[in-house]
Amino acid sequence: MASIVLADVAKSYPGKESAHILKGISFSIEDGEFVVLVGPSGCGKSTLLRMIAGLEEISGGEIRIDGERINETPPARRGLSMVFQNYALYAHMSVFENIAFGLRLAKVPKAEIHTAVRAVAKMLQLEHLLERRPPQLSGGQRQRVAIGRAIVRKPRAFLFDEPLSNLDAALRADMRVEIARLHKQLGATMVYVTHDQVEAMTLADRIVVLSPNGVMQIGSPMTLYERPANVFVAGFIGSPKMNLLPASVAEGALQLGEQARLPWFGGIPSGSRVTVGLRPEHLAPDPDGPLRGTVALIERLGAESYVHLNVAGLATPLVVALRGDPPREDSAWAVRPAAGQIHVFDEQGLRVDSAEPGGIKEVA
Ligand code: ADP
Repeated sequence: MASIVLADVAKSYPGKESAHILKGISFSIEDGEFVVLVGPSGCGKSTLLRMIAGLEEISGGEIRIDGERINETPPARRGLSMVFQNYALYAHMSVFENIAFGLRLAKVPKAEIHTAVRAVAKMLQLEHLLERRPPQLSGGQRQRVAIGRAIVRKPRAFLFDEPLSNLDAALRADMRVEIARLHKQLGATMVYVTHDQVEAMTLADRIVVLSPNGVMQIGSPMTLYERPANVFVAGFIGSPKMNLLPASVAEGALQLGEQARLPWFGGIPSGSRVTVGLRPEHLAPDPDGPLRGTVALIERLGAESYVHLNVAGLATPLVVALRGDPPREDSAWAVRPAAGQIHVFDEQGLRVDSAEPGGIKEVA
């Protein structure tokens, strides 16, 4: 297995002004680590993965595998296996032949191929499907074949490009668990691209959040959730999305909307404009809570409900995630943020930490 380092990596397509799609991308992936690259569509995740794989030229910077620069190394000699969203299987070949393909190319002896394919088929519960062809398989089975084909080559690292995007929600959840299990079983270095923050949160040892402006934050899923470094990450990680509300700093308090004031002891001068982040799951009903308004809408999800609360002076409703009985629509309602669960971002959108541990003493 391998470590992968990206040092100031850039990608531009010649000719066009807007074709400078990645610049100054630096991060490292440790041996055996599961790193997820997440970000909105079009921010360059797939391009970055394809550059690691050798399918796209590197315009600037350096990529190293186990300390060795591989910018000029052809894909086949990098020792990486890639799993694609569209499976990229040969429709006219059996499952067995699809998995065996890379080994045949490498002229591995027949008996060895047989043993290797059988072992991988067992690991992925494909044994009973080895004689079928891809068109006779479900989407989930096809993706398992594609993963099998990657595993059988014993790569130094696995690269996954949105491998679950073509599957329905239930199958996606199953495959997510399967990929997590494989990572544990193989102890392999894995780099995984997705636009789905739930996949990122559940699979990653570490997440790299990308935006069109580059790397926004790198950290463990819980670090990103608990201490997002900026508004972009705050809004991207977490479901339902964090409420991001415009506010101003008054003496020792944050002023939200018309009447809501939250005590705040951060080092920002009075009069500053900030963005306050409140996660829906960190707001609890409280008749004396500082955030008060009228219930606009309730989304019932079964175990939970999302209450949309219109607060005077706020342009968008506040979303509150609630277990237990929701209030009635159109009724008056108030909530209180949990202690230590108020995120504040400055005018540049960067996180500001409170002078008080946990961000807040108490909410009046
Ligand atoms: P993501 O995987 O994050 O959705 P991509 O890496 O697929 O993003 O694409 C990043 C950007 O690069 C997109 O704006 C896309 O249009 C552009 N792009 C991709 N390939 C080419 C190409 N061959 N020529 C010019 N622009 C490209």
